[in-house]
Amino acid sequence: MTTPDTKTSRNDILFARAQQSTPGGVNSPVRAFRSVGGTPRFITRAEGPYFWDADGKRYIDYIGSWGPAIVGHAHPQVVKAVQEAAARGLSFGAPTEGEIEIAEEICRLVPSIEQVRLVSSGTEATMSALRLARGATGRDKIVKFEGCYHGHADSLLVKAGSGLLTFGNPTSAGVPEDFVKHTLVLDYNNVAQLEDAFESMGDTIACVIVEAVAGNMNLIRATPEFLQRMRELCTEYGAILIFDEVMSGFRVGLGGAQALYGITPDLTALGKVIGGGMPVAAFGGRADLMHKMAPIGPVYQAGTLSGNPVAVAAGMTTLKLVQQPGFYEQLSGQADKLVKGLTAAAREAGVAFCADSVGGMFGMYFSASIPGSYSEMMAGDKERFNRFFHGMLDEGVYFAPAMFEAGFVSSTHDDAIVDATIEAARKVFARIG
Ligand SMILES: *Cc1c(COP(=O)(O)O)cnc(C)c1O
Repeated sequence: MTTPDTKTSRNDILFARAQQSTPGGVNSPVRAFRSVGGTPRFITRAEGPYFWDADGKRYIDYIGSWGPAIVGHAHPQVVKAVQEAAARGLSFGAPTEGEIEIAEEICRLVPSIEQVRLVSSGTEATMSALRLARGATGRDKIVKFEGCYHGHADSLLVKAGSGLLTFGNPTSAGVPEDFVKHTLVLDYNNVAQLEDAFESMGDTIACVIVEAVAGNMNLIRATPEFLQRMRELCTEYGAILIFDEVMSGFRVGLGGAQALYGITPDLTALGKVIGGGMPVAAFGGRADLMHKMAPIGPVYQAGTLSGNPVAVAAGMTTLKLVQQPGFYEQLSGQADKLVKGLTAAAREAGVAFCADSVGGMFGMYFSASIPGSYSEMMAGDKERFNRFFHGMLDEGVYFAPAMFEAGFVSSTHDDAIVDATIEAARKVFARIG
């Protein structure tokens, strides 16, 4: 067993230094390893399914930048497109043809999106979609579900998932009560509760926002009835249905979760994969709604770097690559193979473990059955997950450093990579069993 967390590790030196200039030493909380303990790895380069840390140790990476690296790290065509775009100028603050091309491509691939506005982060996308929903309906109340994460906008930081879960802290300081008093948080997959909410206050609800395949409380599938009923209730009460597909978009399949379930939301938020590793996100949907956006409508939203030409080049090239024949069959096949292999390895060692995948996204649960809600997910054996995580890290496999996160495969996670991962897991499960 290697011991990268020794005094001489360059990761330790960098982490100590980072904490001097940056809170917690990181620019996004989950990176700090606080849930699993130990020293975060500082990454120096990445290629295909691998990245390398500051000590030169190589890892098979199952985060893929939390989803964007769907064609593998540093894909030659994506890198070339970025280099060529960069050489033409980094940012103009004026429109470009590249923005039209990616907008047309998104509208073509996600039929519910008739018009789209590009932004630079998923947080901006969901925040703007909420404002649009409120502006269009003239209502204030919004509905979200416990364990779904929609970025860090004020009105959405109500028992949000992901990083906040990691701290076991359901809300953020600094968010005024007044901002969240309009946000109703319901249980995921609880149809009766949703019906009750609409029955008691449906006329005041501006929108329902949901991860149709949840990826920020580990991976949790919505039941078809849950989403179907949500669609019906929104239509009946004149509320806007927002699918937050920042993670699931172009990840669970070409048309996102909405294509898998056959449900048409009014608005969709996208991010992660559509930037191919660069800062591109978007929100879009029904044209009559999108026409309410500035400069033609009353709902204001803007961005200095929105539709940035270098970022759009990376995103557009990635969207072309995922349309290669058989791309998603191969991707989901590898995720499925990984999940089955890990499950079998755990069973051999007698470890209570199960796993699931949707497209190129997977979940690992240290529990006897696959969770369907936030509270079921939270019942998993966190201590055992942490030992598994560190064991795998020692073996050169990098999973998300928290039990509450999904995992991601890329098209470069071939049979050899998946087999090596399962082999490593067999050793680690035996140790932690
Ligand atoms: C990542 C994520 C966001 C936030 O996107 P950022 O680019 O990190 O701001 C919002 N919603 C979902 C579902 C996400 O997975």
